[in-house]
Amino acid sequence: MTVTPPAQPPAAFSTAQSTAQATGQSDSLFERAKRVTPGGVNSPVRAFRSVGGVPRFMASADGAYLTDADGNTYIDYIGSWGPMILGHNHPAVREAVVAAAQSGTSFGAPGWREVELAELVCGVTGAQKVRFVNSGTEATMSALRLARGFTGRKYTLKFRGNYHGHFDGLLVEAGSGLMTNAGVLGAAAPSSAGVPDEYARLTLVSEYNDAPALDALMAARGHEIAAVIFEPVVGNAGVLLPTTEFLSALHRARGGGTLLIADEVMTGFRLSASGATGRLGLRPDLSCWGKIIGGGLPVGAYGGRAEIMDFVSPVGPVYQAGTLSGNPLAMSAGLATLQALQADPGLYDRLEHYTARLAGGLAQAALEAGVTVCINQIGSMLTVFFQAGPVSNYTEAARSDTAAFATWFQGLLKRGVYWAPSQYESIFVSGAHGETELEATLQAAREAFVEIKAQANA
Ligand code: PLP
Repeated sequence: MTVTPPAQPPAAFSTAQSTAQATGQSDSLFERAKRVTPGGVNSPVRAFRSVGGVPRFMASADGAYLTDADGNTYIDYIGSWGPMILGHNHPAVREAVVAAAQSGTSFGAPGWREVELAELVCGVTGAQKVRFVNSGTEATMSALRLARGFTGRKYTLKFRGNYHGHFDGLLVEAGSGLMTNAGVLGAAAPSSAGVPDEYARLTLVSEYNDAPALDALMAARGHEIAAVIFEPVVGNAGVLLPTTEFLSALHRARGGGTLLIADEVMTGFRLSASGATGRLGLRPDLSCWGKIIGGGLPVGAYGGRAEIMDFVSPVGPVYQAGTLSGNPLAMSAGLATLQALQADPGLYDRLEHYTARLAGGLAQAALEAGVTVCINQIGSMLTVFFQAGPVSNYTEAARSDTAAFATWFQGLLKRGVYWAPSQYESIFVSGAHGETELEATLQAAREAFVEIKAQANA
C-alpha cells in the first residue's frame, strides 16, 4: 500500500488561526487532570513545563494533523513521539486493528500475528530471534537482564543524554525528559529520586561521541561490563549524530565479550527499514525496538543472535514474561505498519527529502530573523538547537537557549504547528506530510523566529 499525503488539510486548519486560538476545553481538562493525575499528564514532557502554557488535550488525529478538544487543528511533528511514520489513522492500520478486535482482544496464548510480525522483524533487521514486550522500556530492561545473564557480568555502560526508558538501572544521566525537568528532578546521576545508588553504581557513563573515553573505559573495566547500550542516532538530547570514530570505538568495545545493545526504540524502522544500525553499518549483538514496531499501539521488542536470545525463558535461565505481550491488536497494528513500509520502498527517500527541505527552510528563516540556531537532521528526525553549535553530545546540547526555544514553540503552536515541547527532543515527519504542510510550517516558523528577536529587543 502506498502512503498518499492528504490532498488538502482538514477544513478546520488555518495558519491564520494564530493568536485567537480558543483553549477553554484544554484548560478545564488540564485542571481536572491535575486533581487526579500527577502534573495532569501520564508522561512528563507532555505537561509543557519547559515551554509554559497549558498542554493541548487532543480529540482526534488524521494524516499529518491533530485536532484538540477545542477544535484547533495542528500540523503534527510529534507523531505520538515516533510511531506514526505513516501518518495518523492510516487506513491499513485502522482496518487491521478493527479486524483483530472482532476476533477477540487478548488470548493469553500464542497467536499467528506474533509469528508473522517476528518473521517480518527478523527478515528486515537481521535479528535471528525476537521477543515482544509492551513498551520500549520493557525492551531495554529485558535486553540488559539478558546481557547480564548471558555474560555473567554486572555492569552496563551507557552514554550521557541517551535515554533508554524509565527503569532504575538506566535512569542515570538520561536525556530529554530529565533535561527538560531538571529543576524538578535534579540533574545529577542517578537522574531520578527513588533510584538507589546501588543500582546507579552498576551503570557506568561515558560521553557520547567521545571515542578515546570509550576506549579508555573499556580498557580499564571492559572485563566487568555485560553490555554497552546506546542510541545509534540520539533523539533524546535532541538529535545527535554519531561520528565515524565513535562508531569504530563501539565496534572495538565488544572485543572482550561485552555485548553491544543498540537501542533502536526511536530509530528502528524510522531511519531506514533496518534502522539506524542498518544505515550506519553497525552490527549489534542485541537490538531493542518500540514505537513504529507497534504502529501506535503499545509494543516493544528485543532481539538478536539466536545463541543469546535462547538464554531467555522458557528455553534459557533469564526470566522475562508479560500478560499482554504479543497482544493481537498491538501485533496487528505493528504488522500493518511494517507491511505498509515494505510496500512503499520510496517512503524513506521522501521523508528524508521533506525533512532536509524543512531543515534548510528553517535555517534560512532563522538567518533572516537574526536568530542563531544549529539544526541537526537525519532522515525524518530533526532538532533546532537555539545556539551556534556544533552539537554532538549532551554537554553541547545543554548549552542551548531554552527560553528562546520556548518562545519559538509557543509561536508555532498558536499558528497551528505542534512541535515537540522540549528543546531536547527530535521531531518526527510522517509520510502524510506534503507540500502544503511544509509551506505552512515554514511560514509559521518565520513569524515565530521574528517574535524571538522582537522579544529580545523589547
Ligand atoms: N529508548 C529510547 C531510545 C526511547 O526514545 C524511548 C522512549 O522515548 C525508550 C527507550 C522508552 O520507550 P517507552 O516510552 O515505550 O517505554
